[in-house]
Amino acid sequence: MTRAEDRILVQEYLAHEAEPIPLSQEEKAELESRIRKALKDQDAVLVAHYYVDPDIQRIAEETGGCVADSLEMARFGNRHPASTVVVAGVKFMGETAKILNPEKRVLMPTLEATCSLDIGCPADEFAEFCDQHPDRTVVVYANTSAAVKARADWVVTSSCAQAIVEHLDARGEKILWAPDQHLGSYIQKTTGTDMLLWQGSCIVHEEFKFQGLEDLKALYPDAAVLVHPESPAQVVEMADVVGSTSQLIQAVQSLPNERFIVATDNGIFYKMQQLAPNKTLIEAPTAGNGATCRSCAHCPWMAMNGLENLLHVIEHGDQEIQVDETLREDALKPLRRMLDFTANMNLKAAGNA
Ligand code: SF4
Repeated sequence: MTRAEDRILVQEYLAHEAEPIPLSQEEKAELESRIRKALKDQDAVLVAHYYVDPDIQRIAEETGGCVADSLEMARFGNRHPASTVVVAGVKFMGETAKILNPEKRVLMPTLEATCSLDIGCPADEFAEFCDQHPDRTVVVYANTSAAVKARADWVVTSSCAQAIVEHLDARGEKILWAPDQHLGSYIQKTTGTDMLLWQGSCIVHEEFKFQGLEDLKALYPDAAVLVHPESPAQVVEMADVVGSTSQLIQAVQSLPNERFIVATDNGIFYKMQQLAPNKTLIEAPTAGNGATCRSCAHCPWMAMNGLENLLHVIEHGDQEIQVDETLREDALKPLRRMLDFTANMNLKAAGNA
C-alpha cells in the first residue's frame, strides 16, 4: 500500500466517527464514582496510555492501575493479579494484553479505536512482503495486529527498538522493519543497520511541521525540543531529545530547561505537568493557522476512550478482546522475546547503577 492510499483509508475511516460531546463537571464526577465502584465489583484493573483523556489517566492511577507507554502497559497487565484488565488506549494494546494473559478478560472502552500504523499494515500484504525477503529478521513495532505480530521474529516498542536492533545488528542480522517508516529510518540512521522498511506512518506524528517548529524555536530559543521518533526526519533532526513517551517525560523532569516544545500527542502533557509542575510545555506546530485537522497533536483513536464508554464496558463487559489461540501462541513468541530482552536490559542497568 502506498502512503497516499494509506492516508485515504485513514481519512475515510475517521469520517464516520463522531466527535465526542463534552461532559459537565457533575456528569464527570458521577461517572468517575461509578467507574471506581465498577472496577472493584468486577475485580478489574485499569491500564491507560499517556495519550488518553487525563481524567482516565487520573482514575487509573488513583485506583491502583497504571498510566504508561505500551511496553509498560503490557508488563503491568501481565503481573497484576486482577482477573479483568481494562485497557484504555488503542486496539493493539488490548490485543497485546490478551496475548500475554489468555486467562484474563481484557476489555476496552471501544474496539473501534485503532491506529493508522495498524490499518496501514494488513497481515496478508505483510506476509507477502516477508516471503519476498526470507533472509531478513522480521522486526515489527507493537502498533500492529496480532496477525502481523504472529509473522514476526521480534516485537519492539519505541522505548526498546534501538537496543533490540543494535543487538540483532551485532549478530550480523539484516532487518525487515514494519510498519512505521519514520521510526525505522531514525533507527537505521542511528545504528547503521541494514533495514528494509515498510512504508507506514502515524497520522498524528506525521503532522508535525519542520518550518513551524523552526519558527517556534526562534521565538523560544531557551526551550528544549522533545520529539517522538514517529515524526518526520526533518522534525527529528531539530530535537534536543528523541525518545519514546516515557523517555520524553523523563527528559522534562531531568533537563534544566524551564520551557519545552513537545512533538508528540498532547495527551502526554497531563503526566509531564504532574511530574514537572514548574515547567512550561508548548505543543509543537502541526498544520498551521486555520487548518482543520482531526489528528493534529491528538490521536483521534485515543480520543475515542471516554468516561461514558469506559463505565459501560466495565459494567457490561461487551467490548472484550478475543484473539484466536493459534494466532496468540505465534504472536506470543516475538512479544516474549522483547519482554525478556528488556528485562535483561533493566537488570544490567540496575547492576551498573
Ligand atoms: S498516535 Fe499514531 S501511532 Fe499512536 S495510536 Fe494514534 S495513530 Fe497510532
